[in-house]
Amino acid sequence: MECVLWIREVLHYFLHLIFPVFVAKVFFRNHWKKAYFLMLATMLVDLDHIFANPVFDPNRSSIGFHPLHTYPWLIIYAVGSIFLKGNYRMVAVGLLLHMATDFQDYYLWKMLY
Ligand SMILES: [Zn+2]
Repeated sequence: MECVLWIREVLHYFLHLIFPVFVAKVFFRNHWKKAYFLMLATMLVDLDHIFANPVFDPNRSSIGFHPLHTYPWLIIYAVGSIFLKGNYRMVAVGLLLHMATDFQDYYLWKMLY
């Protein structure tokens, strides 16, 4: 069980910090450094956790709970990833990746506990 928790945590931070490098290099080849920085900056979306009590709960899904992690916003991030251009698209893609990371962090792993 300890090992599963460790893998879950490593995967979570890999998807938040390292995976965006690959996405930036594939989808924003000529501006990948700026894209990577903007995608990292989208982690500020987690500021919406300050309205929750407790602020972090590993047994609670962020998706559908925190204000900027609700499904209407997910649709906006997805549509923005398709239709926005330049820096705005980089931010939208970063937010979508963030939501995918948070989604798997709860729904993929809850099956194992
Ligand atoms: Zn989050």
